[in-house]
Amino acid sequence: MNVYETPTVYEESSPGRSGVILPEADVPETPLPEKLARKDLFLPELDEAAVVRHFTRLSRKNFSVDGQFYPLGSCTMKYNPRMNEEAASFRGFRLSHPLVPDSGNQGNLELMYRLQEALKAVTGFEGCSLQAAAGAQGELAGILMIRAWHLSRGDRERKRVLIPDSAHGTNPATCTMAGFGTETIPSDASGAVDMAALEEAVSGGKAADLAGLMITNPGTLGLFEKNIAVITAMIHEAGGLVYGDGANMNALMGIVKPADLGFDVMHLNLHKTFSTPHGGGGPGAGAVMAGKTLCPFLPGPVAGKSPGGCPAEPDSRYRLERPRQSIGRLKAFNGNFSVLARAYAYVRTLGAAGLKRVSEYAVLNANYLRALVKDDYPVPYGADRPCMHEFTASPDLGNGIHTIDIAKRLIDYGFHPPTVYFPLIVREAFMAEPTETESKETLEAFALALKAIAEEAGTRPELLREAPHTTPVGRLDETAAARNPIVRHVPKPEF
Ligand SMILES: *Cc1c(COP(=O)(O)O)cnc(C)c1O
Repeated sequence: MNVYETPTVYEESSPGRSGVILPEADVPETPLPEKLARKDLFLPELDEAAVVRHFTRLSRKNFSVDGQFYPLGSCTMKYNPRMNEEAASFRGFRLSHPLVPDSGNQGNLELMYRLQEALKAVTGFEGCSLQAAAGAQGELAGILMIRAWHLSRGDRERKRVLIPDSAHGTNPATCTMAGFGTETIPSDASGAVDMAALEEAVSGGKAADLAGLMITNPGTLGLFEKNIAVITAMIHEAGGLVYGDGANMNALMGIVKPADLGFDVMHLNLHKTFSTPHGGGGPGAGAVMAGKTLCPFLPGPVAGKSPGGCPAEPDSRYRLERPRQSIGRLKAFNGNFSVLARAYAYVRTLGAAGLKRVSEYAVLNANYLRALVKDDYPVPYGADRPCMHEFTASPDLGNGIHTIDIAKRLIDYGFHPPTVYFPLIVREAFMAEPTETESKETLEAFALALKAIAEEAGTRPELLREAPHTTPVGRLDETAAARNPIVRHVPKPEF
């Protein structure tokens, strides 16, 4: 049965049918007030099975990591082991009240403490705060920490943040929100930061108003910034600090510690690298990691440990602490705790060696896929060296076919499209991130679909232009859909 062609609950409605049997009323019946009894409101009348099937059908119209390959670049849509879900749903975690004192919350605090320690070990940083609810909120925290540091030194003139043009789109948005001006640094022909342009932006009198640099590494081209150590040293030399966007840690775990590259602060997307289902807006967790300089400014509270316990409460070894010069709170209570529990379960089940293998396979998979499709989907930057966890291609299939057509046609083949039209420096960008949890066979099936689509572009381009053909709706006017969404069923006239 094609799930898309079945009638909706509205068409299945039958007057008087019901899914429940209510007990006889033991109070007098009272009619609804005239104002509340809306005649135009059509409520379908259905039995329970029809309702269950309706919602199950709707759920199957969604793409999901559990259902399909989901190579959405920069999003790390990896498979999330079920064990992590089980850990997050333990009664002790699930039912703990956010207002219990530390003494009654030792298990949760211990988990947070241990996760902080694990993330510090993975990244090499000195401090960690688990407050932020998303990557972008972690960025905001980090940039506000840089701001607070400059201000704490009485340095009020540093208002400019440099951002390479291969950065994630949230980076300039974050800087602007925090009140900084941004300056874009171009990439050179190899996809690396243009060192001459960077030199120009920090040298001489220009250093005086430099607040720092915000850099995504690996960048959105899927390339490791080869000059990163030189770059961070140049920024420090000019009196600035460096923000490293670590949302895409999936290529680096156990291989590179970002703190060693000269970053002062960084966020991790626990809901990408550390396995929490995401998409559709959350929930997430953007752990903020800081080196010596910025540790005191971390958002708080963070989980601390006092080995001997405090005298009044000898059993309370863990407690919430506010970093000395904290920029403050970002989120109520302890952040999105269930995401932290999943991340902790993930880190502990894999261990250090397992996390390293995650990154090795993520990189291997991306390189294998890039090699399989390179004839039709060539990468314009860094084709001569390995990519990291993802790659950004620039397809030109001819016949006026655009990347959007390829993306829509992939849906017909049963695959979620990659990220498209980002980064802006790549013409017709097509950014694919296969992740480590996909098998060789899945990657090959995806490559075969891409090959078939490239052939269709030559022989039957209208198939691509009109795709998708298998979904309830085809090409939406995306602007209109966002501005005037129709989110409820519009009954047919006979109702
Ligand atoms: C996903 C991502 C972000 C933003 O994370 P959110 O949790 O969506 O706010 C920031 N930077 C990079 C590089 C990312 O991939």
